[in-house]
Amino acid sequence: MNQKIWLSSPHMGGNEQNYIKEAFDTNWIAPLGPNVNGFENDLQNYLDRAAHVACLSSGTAAIHLALVQLGIGLNDEVLCQSMTFSASANPIIYQGAKPIFIDSELDTWNMCPMHLEEAIKDRITKGKIPKAIILVHLYGMPAKLDKLLAVAKKYNISVIEDAAEALGSKYKGRKCGTFGNFSILSFNGNKIITTSGGGAMVCRNLVDKEKTIFYATQARDNAPHYEHTTIGYNYRMSNISAGIGRGQMEVLDKHINLRRKINTVYLDLFKAVDGVTVMQELNENYYSNFWLSCILIEKEKAGFTSEELRLALEKENIESRPLWKPLHLQPIFKNCSYYGNGECESLFKKGLCLPSGSNLSSKDLVRISTTIKKFLGHFK
Ligand SMILES: *Cc1c(COP(=O)(O)O)cnc(C)c1O
Repeated sequence: MNQKIWLSSPHMGGNEQNYIKEAFDTNWIAPLGPNVNGFENDLQNYLDRAAHVACLSSGTAAIHLALVQLGIGLNDEVLCQSMTFSASANPIIYQGAKPIFIDSELDTWNMCPMHLEEAIKDRITKGKIPKAIILVHLYGMPAKLDKLLAVAKKYNISVIEDAAEALGSKYKGRKCGTFGNFSILSFNGNKIITTSGGGAMVCRNLVDKEKTIFYATQARDNAPHYEHTTIGYNYRMSNISAGIGRGQMEVLDKHINLRRKINTVYLDLFKAVDGVTVMQELNENYYSNFWLSCILIEKEKAGFTSEELRLALEKENIESRPLWKPLHLQPIFKNCSYYGNGECESLFKKGLCLPSGSNLSSKDLVRISTTIKKFLGHFK
């Protein structure tokens, strides 16, 4: 059997182990230490010098603490993109609040500004002003930020920017992860960089950063003994994980360029294929890290479905995956409200994510291309 080709797997730069060794040599084996501070500085310098970053145990933890700091509690309503990973919405439930799901638009596949406003107006007539908006940059593609932020501003609703998939992506030249009242990043195993598991909160000021760290380290008040006036969490990043992150930051831009190159390979491969489109940036305002390269397949024109292509790749031990299943269609969220007209549902039916890791070898790419070409040959 051929070796498995993954959708996206960890890709070390080489220096990660030196940072870990330093942590062992100095006995900083704790959820704090020089690597944590170093990784936070690296992220701040990369994103925006005005950003204030707190490293946490996961992206999910960061979304949870953003909701906590925005004061979201029992029965509050939070607007969330429907087409996303469940981790975008799960923390709403942790807080006893209610997710209200919003459809995608077809240019970026992210939250539709029109349906967002429609939802806000309707919730207000029903007597409730939504407390926050969680928007996502799926697969690294920046959302329509100008329009979404204008709606948020018009109704004075806070924005949590889920940039878990979009480190290094830019909208109008500004890095994703710097647009929200709180923005979050993920360093899970298959993300653009990994710390083997981890995340970060990007704050707009030092006070919010310090508050994030306070909540993430069990909310200890200032006293010699352990004194608590609020509920805390154990969400801080370890100094070992942060060491991996520091090494990964050294190769981040190099790895983004590799992923963008893989995207052009797929563009070439499918350019003459009727009914298949490779997801692209709408115009020069959008710069995607192309964390994953995705295609849409129109069955009527192409003669095959995304599932048939997925199975053909699987047969050759090549991983591909349907797009995120919209959350309003998930059994666990079936009682939640949804505003839209099913765009995300049709994207889910037609879409496929293709292997996109920065560590794919040229041999891997040939194997993928050959398998796809052979498959396409059946439909000529
Ligand atoms: C990965 C991911 C998360 C969660 O991050 P973790 O670090 O795995 O907790 C949240 N939102 C999106 C869109 C993601 O892709």
